[in-house]
Amino acid sequence: MLSVSAVETACLQSVLYFCRGFFPQSEIRIDQDCIIYIFIYIFAILVFLCDHCRFGILERCKELVEAGYDIRQPDKENVSLLHWAAINNRSELVKYYMSKGAVVDQLGGDLNSTPLHWAIRQGHLSMVIQLLRCGADPSIADGEGYRSLHLAILFQHMAIAAYLMAKGQEVDGPDCNGQTPLMLAAQKIIGPEPTNFLIKNNASVSAVDKVNRNTPLHCAVLAGNVDAAHILLEAGASVDAENINVSLTELIQYTMTKRAKYVPLCSHCNPKGLYMPQLTCVFCLCCQNVLVLAEAGCLDPRIFCTSCMIKKPMRAYHCFTCDACVAKQDHHSIWTNSCIGARNHHFFVLFLMSFMMLGAWMFYGCLMYWSNHCPMHYMEQGLWGAASALVSCSPWVLCVFFLAFYHTSWSAMILLLQLYQIAFLGLTTAERNTLMHHQRKLPQSISLRQNPYNLGVMRNLVSFFQLRCCGLFKPAIIDWTQQFTSGRDQHVFGHPDMV
Ligand SMILES: [Zn+2]
Ligand SMILES: [Zn+2]
Repeated sequence: MLSVSAVETACLQSVLYFCRGFFPQSEIRIDQDCIIYIFIYIFAILVFLCDHCRFGILERCKELVEAGYDIRQPDKENVSLLHWAAINNRSELVKYYMSKGAVVDQLGGDLNSTPLHWAIRQGHLSMVIQLLRCGADPSIADGEGYRSLHLAILFQHMAIAAYLMAKGQEVDGPDCNGQTPLMLAAQKIIGPEPTNFLIKNNASVSAVDKVNRNTPLHCAVLAGNVDAAHILLEAGASVDAENINVSLTELIQYTMTKRAKYVPLCSHCNPKGLYMPQLTCVFCLCCQNVLVLAEAGCLDPRIFCTSCMIKKPMRAYHCFTCDACVAKQDHHSIWTNSCIGARNHHFFVLFLMSFMMLGAWMFYGCLMYWSNHCPMHYMEQGLWGAASALVSCSPWVLCVFFLAFYHTSWSAMILLLQLYQIAFLGLTTAERNTLMHHQRKLPQSISLRQNPYNLGVMRNLVSFFQLRCCGLFKPAIIDWTQQFTSGRDQHVFGHPDMV
């Protein structure tokens, strides 16, 4: 007989008393009582089994299934056990259910989805791999007409999308409405990433849907998605394409008047600065590599860049302005209009130093000019009088003074921050920001100095500026474009999505 825990027994009793409340006048006979009891018992098993699946208690689920529960039986929401296991990423449970004859592509839930659809919506790449190994069909559409690849794009899980494509899913495969993933990305995802990702995977910019004969550019214009329109135009999308109603040019004019949003029609090239050439040009990652990385657990978006389709080196970040992964990225500088990373960080610090000295020198020059050429008597004239005397003496010098003050101030502040980060923390700005963000979530505060890249003030400075001083110092020479780890041990403080 099935063993029922104390909590479950208490629940059963309360349900039984509740049911008895419906028959206050009648004397429930033993046989009636038994039937009600059995009915409630089956109902309770169903509820508890689904609850155990939701929370992934393997042993308890096994116990209940072994007692005779039908593994394919959906719950009252028409959701199977496999669905609950998939959405909660319980690989052991999925393995067990499959061994007991669960249907891998069982449809269920409000959206009539398969367990694979549920796993994709949640972004569980390992579960997607497991379900596909169990024979799940990624081409099945859910109740909204979306297939697996469409869902991965809609929910912006690029690693899953890359894996599905590597497994043979067509990048331009239509959903039940004839829309390709690129159309969905252009229409529903504001921002560059999914559109960029699909274009890099050779998605067609001229495909049209079944209903309105819209191209991806039509979708982007209709949604006012400037980023997507920009990327599609750069990829060669035609502005002369017509849907069943109007040409694209007319649609753009209509949208501009309706939405007052600017859709750029000229192509624009991002200025490319000083980032790693071997990373910016490495895109041709074949499907085999994606499969190998995914199955080795390395297609994690925190380790794998889905924009560049490369495994990111340690300390690398993807810069969306430069559209490249930048080794040991510090930040994207608006002053140099390029990313500051492994190969130009020390030049940037020197630039700040020289800029600050130049500003200070100009500042000093202005003061000297005023003292020699503009006799002021602050005590007699007062503040307003002295200011008027400065303006009338030389407006040009005053203008130079303010400019020098402004540039000296920001360069001094950034320089101090940079030197603090380099010397005392051994971190980049991006890493410090990420660590500070995660530090707030920790129960106890941990010093930023406790990180694996901090070698101590002297060694940090020597290594950063590559100081040798005729062999007196030995800087650590690390090529950050080539530093990879197999797992996530590169992350400090035990947070997988840091650094
Ligand atoms: Zn990247
Ligand atoms: Zn950048």
